[in-house]
Amino acid sequence: MFVFSGTFDKSEINQQTNEITFYYNQKIPIPTYLIAFACGDLEYGKISERCGIYTERGLLDKALYEFAETEKFLKTAEDYINPYIWEVYNILVLPFAFPYGGMENPCLTFVTPALLAGDRSLTNVIAHEIAHSWTGNLVTNKDWTNFWMNEGFTKFFERKIIEILYGEDISNLEAAVGRVNLEHAIKSIGHEHSFTSLNPDLTNVIIENLI
Ligand SMILES: [Zn+2]
Repeated sequence: MFVFSGTFDKSEINQQTNEITFYYNQKIPIPTYLIAFACGDLEYGKISERCGIYTERGLLDKALYEFAETEKFLKTAEDYINPYIWEVYNILVLPFAFPYGGMENPCLTFVTPALLAGDRSLTNVIAHEIAHSWTGNLVTNKDWTNFWMNEGFTKFFERKIIEILYGEDISNLEAAVGRVNLEHAIKSIGHEHSFTSLNPDLTNVIIENLI
């Protein structure tokens, strides 16, 4: 199966060669860093009418339990800001080699299987990626020196979703943990280093080294 950061249109099988062609649409203009695709022996399960999960075989039930609150996150975000315009919100659980928490590709968030904790304790990552459907994916920074505008507003929106659903104490706890992590990062990179400023100097810096 082939999946893409857009809405699925159709698939066609060439009877002679047995090759399958998948067609997807993305009608909303997006920057190139949000174009993503994956292929593999995938299973799909629905969470709601517009939300679902792709996993490799054997992981689907676990993922459906872990991310069962996805529609609730999406609805909360919509009620707070305005309607979700990307039509579908799917999650692709990547192989264990994927080292990042999540990537907010439109219509198809990529997540690490490390989020499958079994107790829904890491699903704030899904709230974060859903928040990117507005902050980041609809309105983004002009270039990576202004990345704080993308991630900063998304972090605010993520914590707002968590606060509305689970209360101010949980949201404040996440903010406190975030603050400790930020201080740790500033300490390890160096508070005088350009990378710990709001507008880092990225001249001749390869972006993958920053993520
Ligand atoms: Zn983010």
